[in-house]
Order: sequence, then structure tokens, then C-alpha cells
Amino acid sequence: MTCQVSRELEQLVLQARPYSAHGNLASYIPALEKANPNHLSVAIFDLDGNCIYAGDYKQKFSLQSISKVLSLAYVLARIGEEEVFQRVGMEPTGDPFNSIAKLETVKPSKPLNPMINAGALVVTSLIPGTNPREQWDGFLAFVRTLTGNQKIDYSQELQESEFTTSYLNRALCFFMKQHGIIVGEVEEIMELYTKQCSIEMNCLELAQLGAVFANNGRNPVTGEQLIPVQIARICKTFMVTCGMYNASGEFAMKVGIPAKSGVSGGILGVIPNRCGIGVFSPALDEKGNSLAGWKLLELMNEKYNFSIF
Ligand code: GLN
Repeated sequence: MTCQVSRELEQLVLQARPYSAHGNLASYIPALEKANPNHLSVAIFDLDGNCIYAGDYKQKFSLQSISKVLSLAYVLARIGEEEVFQRVGMEPTGDPFNSIAKLETVKPSKPLNPMINAGALVVTSLIPGTNPREQWDGFLAFVRTLTGNQKIDYSQELQESEFTTSYLNRALCFFMKQHGIIVGEVEEIMELYTKQCSIEMNCLELAQLGAVFANNGRNPVTGEQLIPVQIARICKTFMVTCGMYNASGEFAMKVGIPAKSGVSGGILGVIPNRCGIGVFSPALDEKGNSLAGWKLLELMNEKYNFSIF
């Protein structure tokens, strides 16, 4: 098992980095504006446990919406498909990730999928546990196991910054509570959700976690089945259809792998049966995807031809 810097990836990072100048930091979560817009990092973790990396690979970032894949995997494993899909659908929306529009037009008011905020809030509300502490501890332990790093934790600064400004996410919760899709206390769900979004790691840890999905739920190093095969499959399918927000179709055309992005500028990529990819660059395009990160994945696909289509 080796882990080393890759000259080839460094070249691609050089080519992609200038694109970050055309993007903007997410500002609706105030603490995210502290990021350095020029950062760009990438890591690839393969199924033999080897990894290569380039750019600002030590830089930590918060998962934000990438955490939606992890909460979905966790909740599906703990309470089963039937319970989950009673409350959240399986269809892409074509709307921005935080849109409330479809909740009013779809009957019952169940969010269309678990990768948009409304759907992810439902999934978070389903995390099992008798109190918020127990819910959080169980979920965090799961994320730590996936990354192979017991020190993974959330940033309190980011969590507080989002928790105190999340009016829209609260509105989504209250709307769904009114319609019986969410049960439980909205403030508790918001606390749990903002904690999961604020979990921090670097691109190497993100790539390692991606390799578990690429390896059909098995830890590539130990062989341990961390996520049931069927659940890993469901997560990868949602990543293809809804992972890059309302740009998922374009991303499937141009890069063609299961992926999930977050407004911190992180992107989790999964090449089935080959490797996991972690990318980070915080300047975003108008749909909320990392500009240089997306470009870098396009360049990598041109070089390594990893589209699954
Ligand atoms: N925490 C963010 C939010 O709920 C996550 C959104 C995202 O990364 N797209 O708004």
C-alpha cells in the first residue's frame, strides 16, 4: 500500500486551478466565506489500498451536501428501504438543491429524492436513537469507520454558523412537519443536520470513503463489509441521477461517474470497481458546484477515460 503525490495529477491541477477565478464562495453560510478560493486538491484511492494525490491535499473542508450520501447509507442500513422510501422519493428534480417549490406541487408533499435539502432533512430525521446525542454518536461512528480515521469530527464554528442562519432549511422542515412527512422536533433535526454538514476531512479521507462505495460497500483494505451491497448501489444510483444538483445531467455527459458535491467545494467521486476520488476547490458555479473541481474531473476523464457510460 502506497500513498504518494502524483506528477500527472499535479499537471492537471495546474490546468484546472485558473477556473476557480470564475467562481464564488458560498456566502449564505457565513463561515464558508473564510475559505481560500484558490485552493484545489485531489486524491484517488484504489481498491488495493493505494492512493495518489495532488494540490492542497492537506486542506480540510466540510462535507456539506456530500454528507447526504452518508446519512442515506446509514439510515437505509439501520431502518431499511421501505421505511425510508415511504417518506422520500427517487426522482431527480431539476430544481436548485434548496428549492421548496416541488413540495407544494407533489402530493403527498414528500421530497423527490434524498440528495436535495428537503429529502436529506427527512433522512436525518430518521437517524435512529433515543436522543440527539445517541443519534449523532451513531452516525459519526459510521463516518469514522468509512474513512478509517477515528479522529474525524465536525467543525463547531461551521455548524453554529449554519445553524443560526438556516431559515430556509427550517422552513422546509416545518412545511414537511405540517404534512406529516417529518416527525420530531425541528430544532433537533436542524442541529443534527448542520452537524453532519459540518463534518470535516481532507481529499484523501474523502477518496478513501469513496473507495468503499466503489468496492460495493467493502473496505478495500480490510475487506470488511461496511455498507450492504444493495445500499451502496442505491447511493451510487442517486449520485448519478441527483448528485450534482440540477447539473447532474451535464455532469453525467461530461464526466460520467457517480458523484456528490457540496457547497464547501468538495466533490466525492466513485468509479465502480476501480477507485474513490476526493476533490476540493471552494469557488462555486451558479448551481453550487466547485468550478475548478468539476474542470479537474473533466480533465481526469479525458486522460483516464473513466466514464461509466
Ligand atoms: N449545509 C448546506 C445546506 O443545507 C448543504 C447544501 C449543499 O452543500 N448543497 O444548505
